[in-house]
Amino acid sequence: IFDEYSIKSLVRPIPDFPKAGVTFRDITPLYQSPRAMRMVADSLIQRYVESPITHIAAIDARGFLLGSVLAYELNKPLILVRKAGKLPADVISETYSSEYGDCVVEMHRDALKGGEQVLLLDDLIATGGTFLAAARLVKQLGGNVYEAGAIIDLPDLGGSRKMQDADIPTYTLCAFE
Ligand code: IMP
Repeated sequence: IFDEYSIKSLVRPIPDFPKAGVTFRDITPLYQSPRAMRMVADSLIQRYVESPITHIAAIDARGFLLGSVLAYELNKPLILVRKAGKLPADVISETYSSEYGDCVVEMHRDALKGGEQVLLLDDLIATGGTFLAAARLVKQLGGNVYEAGAIIDLPDLGGSRKMQDADIPTYTLCAFE
């Protein structure tokens, strides 16, 4: 049974990180709780087990942790969306501006061939810039984003609304207003 309250109680607010005025939602206590992590993983597995997804694209770095669990359990190929300069082979790139400045995300050019149904996974949606850039990478390679899934939404930062405007379905397990 999914217990939103116990999930949220394991996300700790860190004031003024990484810069003054920003409250960072730290999910490391959640990752340290096997019971909570099982709840998170099981909820996402249940949501996607009978979906048409063919691939999971996980986002650097906390999205990787979730992505590998789901790719294993759903038996789907795992693709990495990484920060610039980390992927060694031929890459495609997308630039976006985040709360913290300009960012670049990359994907290996041969990660998709076209026609795939891709589930994007990350820990948290803030402004939505990361997910939207990841979605553009998938589209560049001819794939379709089936949904963008995350543990936490920060709706006040407008990301989930921007995703909706871009016609990308999103799914989150909880939100901090
Ligand atoms: P966005 O691109 O503004 O939606 O930011 C989401 C990305 O930044 C995700 O990859 C998150 O891991 C990271 N991020 C932004 N804010 C937070 C936060 O408060 N806690 C944890 N991760 C965050």
